[in-house]
Amino acid sequence: MKMTSEQQQSIEEWMDFLKIPSISADSNFKADVRRAAHWVQQALLDSGCTTVDLIDTPGHPIVYGEYLIDPKLPTVLVYGHYDVQPPDPVELWKSPPFEPVIKSTELHPDGAVFARGACDDKGQVFMHIKALQKMIADQSLHTNVKFMVEGEEEVGSDHLEDFVKKNKEKLQCDIILISDTGMISNEQPSITTGLRGLSYMEITVTGPNRDLHSGLYGGAVANPINVLCEIIAQLQNEKHQVNIPGFYDKVQEISSEERALMGRIPFDESGFKNSIGINDTRGEAGYSTEERRSIRPTLDVNGIWGGYTGEGAKTVIPGEAHAKISMRLVPDQDWEEISRLFTQQVEALAPKSVSVKVTTHHGGYPYVTPIDTLGYQAAHAAYSDVFGVAPVPHRGGGSIPIVPMFEKELGVKSILMGFGLDTDAIHSPNEHFGLFNFFKGIATIPKFYHHFARLMGAKNQ
Ligand SMILES: [Zn+2]
Repeated sequence: MKMTSEQQQSIEEWMDFLKIPSISADSNFKADVRRAAHWVQQALLDSGCTTVDLIDTPGHPIVYGEYLIDPKLPTVLVYGHYDVQPPDPVELWKSPPFEPVIKSTELHPDGAVFARGACDDKGQVFMHIKALQKMIADQSLHTNVKFMVEGEEEVGSDHLEDFVKKNKEKLQCDIILISDTGMISNEQPSITTGLRGLSYMEITVTGPNRDLHSGLYGGAVANPINVLCEIIAQLQNEKHQVNIPGFYDKVQEISSEERALMGRIPFDESGFKNSIGINDTRGEAGYSTEERRSIRPTLDVNGIWGGYTGEGAKTVIPGEAHAKISMRLVPDQDWEEISRLFTQQVEALAPKSVSVKVTTHHGGYPYVTPIDTLGYQAAHAAYSDVFGVAPVPHRGGGSIPIVPMFEKELGVKSILMGFGLDTDAIHSPNEHFGLFNFFKGIATIPKFYHHFARLMGAKNQ
């Protein structure tokens, strides 16, 4: 890949950012996390932002920057994070995690920068800073811009909600732009339009007041593990639908147009099976594998224990059995309501011969950006301009709790414009981010601003 001196300079700056070990989970790196916050502050000032503040929280600081042109123009709020995951296990890295190097791979023939945070999320945050710098320099920016870059995303964004609640006025905007996800491939860009929510539950089944001899008592007493298995088995029917009354009541059926667009995403079913070593897939009747893991809710046992699990045999009827169960939720399911319905159903299924306790651990709301919103349309036009291919909408199977939080507190949708690939090893050893992806990001972001300003202008006329 032939690079201009400007591009070379961008890579050098990005690498300087990656050298700072801003590991938010480890208190030994607190000063480095702060150093990374200062680095972002300076980079935003260098890009032309007029005000950039470093705001302290009880945890790591939030960097807030602004470039305001005119209150009558639309406003874009960019969110990202400058903290990174711990690099462990360090011995599996082929080059040190905080000494970035450029290497080529099969998927990145033009080279990729290898370092912790290369993609998630320092590389993607830096794309936004470089894009802003370019737009300010050539006066092509026709929106106001705000940046909110936090240092606690990898540890649960503990202090972000409080900051957002206390600064609703300051953060007021028309759209939130986030690059902290990926796209399908370098040939087929995609926009993440939805995320699943979560309800995490635990069941404890208690039987006799102690572990019993299975010869003396077996057959006459309910075995808590058997009962727990019976309850769990009844939580799904033979079509692999979740058997909890009311569970599907608020599930938003996705439009056939969007379903058809998502169906265009290339998916290799046998490659998928091979990659995880299974002979066949399984899931809810009437939906494809991709749909089952993105637009449909689920119920899965995450852990189950009780009784004797040591070496050899011990004939025992255990006094207790436990299971942890998670449900992935889709718009517009409400995790608190689902947790309540789950509890009622488990209690209803429990026989009198045992007692059952259900606890809710935590949850999160699902999220969706409909494809007929101006934000989505602007992103669609931006990718089409730069890649020469129309992007496809894609629903993520996981959860990013801050995105529904932004919608709740600020009343604004987010556009998840990710440029990484699933194979970039984020959170794993040898994380990397392709130079192709980095520069495509820097080219696509200004197009988004351009189209968003255009579409908002047309709407307001
Ligand atoms: Zn991230």
